[in-house]
Amino acid sequence: MKHKRNILKLSIIICLMVIFCLIILPLTIVSLFHDEEEPLQPLPKTGTIDIPEYINVYRHSSAITESVKFEDYVAGVVAGEMPSNFEMEALKAQAVAARTYSLSKIIRSGDGGNPDHPSAPVCDDTHCQVYRDPIELSKIKSKEWMDTGWPRIISAVDATKGQIMYYGEELVEQPLFHSSSGGKTENSEDVFVSAVPYLRSVDSAFESAAPYYDEQVKIPLSEFSRKIKNTHSDLDTKAVNKSTIKVLERSSGGRVASLQVGNLTLKGREIREIFGLRSANFTVSVQGNTVLVTTDGYGHGVGMSQWGANGMAQAGYSYTDILKHYYTGVEVY
Ligand SMILES: [Zn+2]
Repeated sequence: MKHKRNILKLSIIICLMVIFCLIILPLTIVSLFHDEEEPLQPLPKTGTIDIPEYINVYRHSSAITESVKFEDYVAGVVAGEMPSNFEMEALKAQAVAARTYSLSKIIRSGDGGNPDHPSAPVCDDTHCQVYRDPIELSKIKSKEWMDTGWPRIISAVDATKGQIMYYGEELVEQPLFHSSSGGKTENSEDVFVSAVPYLRSVDSAFESAAPYYDEQVKIPLSEFSRKIKNTHSDLDTKAVNKSTIKVLERSSGGRVASLQVGNLTLKGREIREIFGLRSANFTVSVQGNTVLVTTDGYGHGVGMSQWGANGMAQAGYSYTDILKHYYTGVEVY
């Protein structure tokens, strides 16, 4: 009798184990995997950011802060930053970049302004973006420009009204641009401090029409040494000669990362600043008592090349193609 009871108990245990193994366990596993396969809820689209109607702009010449209609401000920036005879798609790309930059400045400044102009998130010169209102434009531009150039800029801004750039659904904060790259743009960390994922070095293949190719600057060797010594007092000027002025390293975009000058190793951008070069994308040689510096491109080389954007537009690319090319991985909406 006791033996039969034991068999019954064992049978019940086996039955329970079978039920667990064949039914409950698979169900649990299926439900676990099912949960994993469930698509993740997308993050709230930052495309829901409200574009304000007005923006405060600090005007340097008058030291007055003006409240300007946001889209009028964007048009004034495009007028200040890009030639109006550039292709329409390039003007549109510039409008989206300007709008995105301005919006990020507003959001970052919160209720206040920029540390350098606390009454406004943006100012009207290269510290932020160059901005010119229609009254200023009518004074500095020709009547023909006001009749033909200005309407083109207005249409580029209107055609992209409210559109901004996002990276990973977050507002792009640093849609940097420059005049021309010399053929390849730069990784942000090679020019500035931090590595920004959408500011990567890319080819800029359509900027051969840019006016800043192969610009040669001639500097007497003595002046070259003297100017560097002004900022680097440890320079041994006697050690500066033909064989001790040479490029040591270049960035992925082709700019001079480091350069030997006599007993010192300097950064290419230091040389650019000291001699006011258009670009840190240069070659250097010494002929007799003269230092020859030949630069390619104009500007820091990070983000969108404006001449490259114009060349892409001429080749049939749209403004979104242009923005997506120069700002890696962004979306425009
Ligand atoms: Zn500013």
